[in-house]
Amino acid sequence: MDENSHLQLAPRIALVHTAIAQAAQKAGRATDAVTLLAISKTRPIEAIGPFINLGHRHFGENRVQEAAQKWPALQQAHADIQLHLVGALQSNKAEQASALFDVIHTLDRVKLADALARAGQSLGRLPRLFIQVNTGEEPQKSGVLPDQLDAFVAQCRTLFDLPLDGLMCLPPVDQAPGPHFALLGRLAARNGLSQLSMGMSDDFETAVQLGATHIRLGRQLFGPRD
Ligand SMILES: *Cc1c(COP(=O)(O)O)cnc(C)c1O
Repeated sequence: MDENSHLQLAPRIALVHTAIAQAAQKAGRATDAVTLLAISKTRPIEAIGPFINLGHRHFGENRVQEAAQKWPALQQAHADIQLHLVGALQSNKAEQASALFDVIHTLDRVKLADALARAGQSLGRLPRLFIQVNTGEEPQKSGVLPDQLDAFVAQCRTLFDLPLDGLMCLPPVDQAPGPHFALLGRLAARNGLSQLSMGMSDDFETAVQLGATHIRLGRQLFGPRD
């Protein structure tokens, strides 16, 4: 959680990388199979710059509008930055998001798949795509329901010709995350998807042990959010 926020930035990042390496080792996985996303939502550019200066390159935002204000100049200055969208995407912003982001983690419905396919045609490029799965079947949460996932994957591939990288989930806050991460892994495997976006500040070690390829950390890296 936030217990490392008193540390300077470099040791704080190093601690997270050590924890990732230990969790990976426990599970017999390679450490470099895990990409650490620094979730910079609500953080000003002044808080992001030091990460870039230390060589960190993967960042995540949850709002297109906020990202469009913060990131284009940084992307121009550092061509190797990888920007990830981890929040809900409205289909009328699919083209703007496809131009701005390198990876979208929140593909979750047919209308959005259609909009992304159109955006890809008009831009000549598409971000890499993860489908968000509502593993806890929570009514208020976005994401494809587990029992509808196989059909949705097939639609994305055959109807819209969308290349898919993997699956993403946000487990219910009041449940142990492990079973949700394990479920996401099984759903990905049976659909031939190799990437798993799962694990946040409080549960990333569990996620790494269960096969996460992308972990999404905000508070653990930046400190508490207001
Ligand atoms: C905010 C957010 C995170 C990061 O959460 P922390 O608890 O700050 O690590 C990860 N994933 C998504 C989708 C988020 O919205």
